[in-house]
Amino acid sequence: MYGILDNLDHVNLELDFDDAVFATSFYAPPPPESEIDINTYIYSKEFNCPVCRAKFTAAVVRQSRLRLTHMEELRPVYKDFEPLCYDVMMCVNCGYAAFRERFDVVSEKQQEILLEKIRLNYSNFMPATFPLEINPMQAIELYKYALLTACIKKTSMGEKAMLLIKISWLYEILGDERNVLFYTKHANEALTEAYSTERFPIFGMSEGAVSYMLASFATTLGNYQTALKFLSEIIVNKNMSTRLRDLSRDLKEKVQKLRKEAGETEENDPE
Ligand SMILES: [Zn+2]
Repeated sequence: MYGILDNLDHVNLELDFDDAVFATSFYAPPPPESEIDINTYIYSKEFNCPVCRAKFTAAVVRQSRLRLTHMEELRPVYKDFEPLCYDVMMCVNCGYAAFRERFDVVSEKQQEILLEKIRLNYSNFMPATFPLEINPMQAIELYKYALLTACIKKTSMGEKAMLLIKISWLYEILGDERNVLFYTKHANEALTEAYSTERFPIFGMSEGAVSYMLASFATTLGNYQTALKFLSEIIVNKNMSTRLRDLSRDLKEKVQKLRKEAGETEENDPE
């Protein structure tokens, strides 16, 4: 049973929805002027909300301008710009929020429930408008709205897991270690449930990619034995891609080192 997402009141409590940050950061002063022209990376586009039918404007990322510099474990890092802030979109008229690529996936039944429940649950927190350029703090708010929407819509655990892990990445960008662990823990629970109950691909990820992700979560959470179990399964499976097996060997080495530092024994290791 996946506790925190089953009950909306509980979600409100657990995820600090009435945290001052949640209600006010959209009104925070704009970030200091940077040398980077944001228009290089985003442009404004009008969308139709599939729930309330209102029109609203949101930023779209110019994918061709993105330059990947490196990976922070699972999180891609780009030069001068953070596209992660734009993966979720919200209609400011009704509060419906979701991953951009899943935004229009709403049944008539869901539409009714969403209209009723979203207003009921967080109309008080809704900003009247939000800026085109989104910083990580504001993105976290959008993702939390999307998480609420996902609970109301009863979307797949895989999708909820992706929202949770991306929230943890945004906290990582902000250097908030406590929230990184909090959201990784919940992403881990959601993805573990998806792994055993949903069909692959899970939110576009193959079984190997999900296993690797679970190994990475387990490493962050200090569950080294679980991490090693997933990694060993990938490494010995010749059906997995060479890239994924290489990544898994690297992570395995890192986990073994961490484990040694933590003073864990190597007895009962998976073969
Ligand atoms: Zn709407």
